[in-house]
Amino acid sequence: MRIVFIGPPGAGKGTQAEKIIAKYATAHLSTGDMLRAARDAQTEVGVKAEKYMSSGQLVPDDILIAMISERLQQADCQAGYLLDGFPRTIAQAEALDEMLEQNNTPLDVVLELQVPEDELFKRLAGRGRADDKPEVIRERLVAYTKQTSPLLEYYSGKGLLQSVNGLGSVEEIFAQIETQLDCYK
Ligand code: ADP
Repeated sequence: MRIVFIGPPGAGKGTQAEKIIAKYATAHLSTGDMLRAARDAQTEVGVKAEKYMSSGQLVPDDILIAMISERLQQADCQAGYLLDGFPRTIAQAEALDEMLEQNNTPLDVVLELQVPEDELFKRLAGRGRADDKPEVIRERLVAYTKQTSPLLEYYSGKGLLQSVNGLGSVEEIFAQIETQLDCYK
């Protein structure tokens, strides 16, 4: 299965992604994790990305597109994957479409985890990551609304979007995700 997982920061994508990976045995491509690893290793990409990440802005599209294009060619992605944190802009979504078209490997589904903004702010403020300072959180939520939420329309127009309510227990939310994903197995 080829899945795109979309949701605002703090929606609980990380937690649900772990459960999806475990049950559906698919590769997990988290661009946040990839960028944090690059930053910690101080690679060229990591050094460039750092200033955007620490201020809550999106890292430029060309960096992310190159990173994912390389990653998708690796052996563990051939049987499917969960894309978590990519695409985050229309330009990234269009670049992804192009890559997938070339290889004749279309997406199966785009899963959206929906959580209201006041709840997101509460959750993020309690998390304590370096980019979880209130002004950075605000910036990340703005980036989501402006740059990422247009993807919902983009993918619903292609008939790929399935939305799941991100309020409730981890198990309740995962049960809804399973119901959706079991349609594509
Ligand atoms: P969040 O917890 O906000 O969902 P992630 O862990 O997915 O964040 O990503 C952390 C940061 O990495 C983002 O705030 C952004 O700066 C950068 N980032 C991750 N994925 C992308 C992407 N697809 N495009 C641009 N920037 C990205």
